[in-house]
Amino acid sequence: MADVIQLLPDSIANQIAAGEVVQRPASVVKELLENSIDAGARNITLIVREGGKSLIQVIDDGIGMSETDARLCFERHATSKIRTADDLFNIRTMGFRGEALASIAAVAEVELKTRRTIDEVGTEVNISASELVSQQPIACQAGTQISIKNLFFNVPARRKFLKSDSVELKHIISEFQRVSLAYPEVAFTLNHNGNDLYKLPPSGLKQRIVGLFGKNINQHLIDISTQTSIVKLGGYIGKPECAKKSAGEQFFFVNGRFMKNPFLHKAIMNAYDRLLPSGAYPSYFIYFDIDPQSIDVNIHPTKTEIKFEDERMIWQILHAAVRESLGKFSVTPSIDFDTPGFDIPYLPKNAPITFPSIDIDPTYNPFDEQPKGAPTHKSGGNKQSVTGWEQLFGDMPEEPNPVQTRIETFESEGMKATTSDTSNRFYQLKGKYILTNVKSGLMIIDQKRAHERILYEQYMAGMQSNTNIKQKELFPKTIELLPADYELLISNADELAKFGMEISNLNHNTISVNSLPASSSVTDPAKLIENLLAIMNENHALPFSDAKHRIALSMAKASAIGYGKVLSNFEMQEIVDKLFACSEPNITPDGKKIIDILELDEIERRLK
Ligand code: ADP
Ligand code: MG
Repeated sequence: MADVIQLLPDSIANQIAAGEVVQRPASVVKELLENSIDAGARNITLIVREGGKSLIQVIDDGIGMSETDARLCFERHATSKIRTADDLFNIRTMGFRGEALASIAAVAEVELKTRRTIDEVGTEVNISASELVSQQPIACQAGTQISIKNLFFNVPARRKFLKSDSVELKHIISEFQRVSLAYPEVAFTLNHNGNDLYKLPPSGLKQRIVGLFGKNINQHLIDISTQTSIVKLGGYIGKPECAKKSAGEQFFFVNGRFMKNPFLHKAIMNAYDRLLPSGAYPSYFIYFDIDPQSIDVNIHPTKTEIKFEDERMIWQILHAAVRESLGKFSVTPSIDFDTPGFDIPYLPKNAPITFPSIDIDPTYNPFDEQPKGAPTHKSGGNKQSVTGWEQLFGDMPEEPNPVQTRIETFESEGMKATTSDTSNRFYQLKGKYILTNVKSGLMIIDQKRAHERILYEQYMAGMQSNTNIKQKELFPKTIELLPADYELLISNADELAKFGMEISNLNHNTISVNSLPASSSVTDPAKLIENLLAIMNENHALPFSDAKHRIALSMAKASAIGYGKVLSNFEMQEIVDKLFACSEPNITPDGKKIIDILELDEIERRLK
């Protein structure tokens, strides 16, 4: 039988390699920016169109390439950065595999213009899907300009999987942040669809962080630095009170290379232990300087993971350094929090105390035949009976049903009479669950999820009838946002307005918030926007593709009461009433369970 093995043609081999190196436009951005850094550039401009799908261009003033190199750089394993196997253990450059340009050129149209300062004329090379289209001498500035057009034009399956422009842009921005944070002494510009999103002059690290994350972060940065025989460590950590609900400002760099490291991330989280509310992420920008011999950057094709020879030791050093910095700025707790039994909710210094607000529906008339927005008594034929909630309370004469109780509460309040009936009906557990007695046992309601369901249905109904009530802000609040967040909000502004949140675009990444949805429990516009962005940024986790459901759900999640919020009996009553007036009280719009019942049988069994 004839031999069957053949060597793959280069174009196919490159396309296969591209599958690893080039996942999305942001991967191209990373490789190109790193090449410019390796070429010693002092000024780097990144120009992107349509989330990088139609154009990614990088212009640098680095060393440039000779005519031969300009062609050779697109060959696989063509690199100027390592020559011997030993070099692999001494890597100080960002790239070293010689794979990136070959891979990118396999899945896009590439135009390269480059000139070394010593040469009089430069070289232009055009390549499409690994095929050389043209090469000629041209006049151009010293340095390199490379344009990647129509990424994945020849791999439709991949192109189809690209996300929306704003999602792709977000990924690009995060690569841009990583590289520009690693090299604050280099000037960087990022332009998207003709707008400069960032223009960062050469600077020190602190100024670079401010350039990327806004002026506000400045006063929240705490120095961190330490030097040991195995590692030198420096940078900044954020004060606990500026911790965010979503991850995004956590950066580790090793010898000028961004690194993800969940193990070391834990060292930091552990050092902040008890200083943060649950689900909050502290900002950090931490730079390790370490002998390249004691790390391995080679374990991952996209190289964001780095292996340390002595990771445990580094964990300890980092942990101690973070504790020390927090301590120096006297933000560590003075009480010994290791004593069991403490359960103090975290409150940042000077935090405004908000009093629980009670949301009373002014259109609600208990004597109406069919009160709006409140549970109906004649619900036999409608959706509510599907859940059978009325039966839950059904034949318990000593425990009136929630609607009844609610009416009585209103009446007795009017007469200034004391009511005993609601005071013991509800019990709040750990600031998280509402417990109440039902026929078959103990009903447990997740307060936040319940409120999400209530608000979601209210917002959707309000949108359909165009009656979403807005709370106008007397003094519209202006908020400066990160560019990606800004684009995301502005592109959804019309939808948001339908739900009562009116924002206007003040340019330069700034918006003003003119009104908030009426029943939001979050009344600080900046906080609400922060919540909303955290949720919208995880949009892909939401089950709806339809924009209005998605926004209603995001808004409901952002506005709902949180965990840890202490509720009065009256408020618990309100939530339970309104929850059971919803069409689907059992699950949140994104499918999480709201209610459970601990059956009497189960309780009895446990106490046997
Ligand atoms: P690597 O960076 O791993 O060497 P690449 O495929 O990214 O591999 O680049 C191949 C080679 O092309 C580099 O080693 C470098 O010599 C040259 N090169 C790429 N980009 C630039 C640039 N912006 N300026 C100068 N030389 C470059
Ligand atoms: Mg490279």
